[in-house]
Amino acid sequence: MNGNLKLAIQKKGRLTEKSLELLRHCGLDIENYSERLIVSVRNFPLDILFLRDDDIPEYVQDGVADIGIVGENVIYEKQTQTTMLEKLGFGRCSLMLAYPENKELKKIEDINGRIIATTYPRILKDYLGSNNLNAKIIELSGSVEIAPSLGVADLICDIVSTGNTLMMNKLKKSFKVFDSEAVLISAASSLSDEKKNDMLNDLLRRIRSVLTARSSKYLMMNVPKNSLEKIINIIPSLKSPTVLHLADANMLAVHAVIPSNKFWSIIEDLKAAGASGILLLPIENMIQ
Ligand code: ATP
Ligand code: ZN
Repeated sequence: MNGNLKLAIQKKGRLTEKSLELLRHCGLDIENYSERLIVSVRNFPLDILFLRDDDIPEYVQDGVADIGIVGENVIYEKQTQTTMLEKLGFGRCSLMLAYPENKELKKIEDINGRIIATTYPRILKDYLGSNNLNAKIIELSGSVEIAPSLGVADLICDIVSTGNTLMMNKLKKSFKVFDSEAVLISAASSLSDEKKNDMLNDLLRRIRSVLTARSSKYLMMNVPKNSLEKIINIIPSLKSPTVLHLADANMLAVHAVIPSNKFWSIIEDLKAAGASGILLLPIENMIQ
C-alpha cells in the first residue's frame, strides 16, 4: 500500500493500447509494462493494474482498484456497483442480433419464440424485456457465431464491428441491441480517501482536456477584409475567432477552434466566401 491511486486497464486486448495512449497524452510517464501486473507512473502518484477486462468492474467495486477503464458492454453485463466518470471516445462497438443468410427476419417481433446464443445474456434479457419480446437465451462463453450452424440457436447476439466474422459464418446482422465505448469507472462518484480523490480529480481534469482537444481542430485561413463578417458567420467556432492583420492591407488572417467533425461541411462555403490558404491543425491539449 503506497497510497497511490490505482487504475485497472485491460492486460491484453482491444482496449490496452488506446488506454495507455490516453494516459500518455495526459502527460503520464509510464514504465515499460511488458507482462507485468502492476506498473508505476514516474511523474504521477498512479499505479496501473493490468487485468482481464471482465474482472475490472468487480475489482473496482471491491476497491482492489480505485478506478478502471473498461467497455460499457462489460459493465452492463457484470451488473456491479460502479459509477461511470467519463466516456472515453474509443473502443466503440455494437452488440447486434445476427441470423443465417438464408433466413428472413423482417421485423424484430419475428424473433419471438426463437433461440438466441450470446455471451451477453443480461444485456440481451433487458433488451428483450424492454421491447416486449419473448425469445430463449442460451449463454455461451465464446465463438457464438458458430451456434446457428451447429443447430444450437436460431440467432446470435454478439459484438459486431466489420462484420467479417459474421460473413465467414454465413450470418447477416440485423437489429442493434446495445452501443458501447470505453469508459472510466470508480466505485462511487468520489473516493473516500481525500488524497486519492485529489489525485483522481487531477487525472480527470487532464483526461477531459485531452478528450476536448481530440474532438477539436485549429482552423487557420486568410480572408479578404470585406468578407470577414460572412466568414465569421460560417465558422462554427467554440469561442470568438481571432482576427489578425497581414502585410497585405486588403487581407486578414482568421484563426478559430472548431469541432473536428464540422470541417468538411463548411470548407466549400469558406472557399466561396473568398477564404484561401486554409489550414486545419490538431490540438495537443485544451484547458477550458
Ligand atoms: P480479455 O482477455 O481481457 O477478457 P476479451 O477477448 O474479452 O479480452 P477484447 O476482444 O480485447 O476482449 O475486447 C475488449 C473490449 O473492446 C470489448 O469488451 C468491447 O468493449 C471493445 N470492442 C471494441 N471493438 C470491438 C470488436 N470489434 N470486437 C470485440 N470487442 C470490441
Ligand atoms: Zn473479456
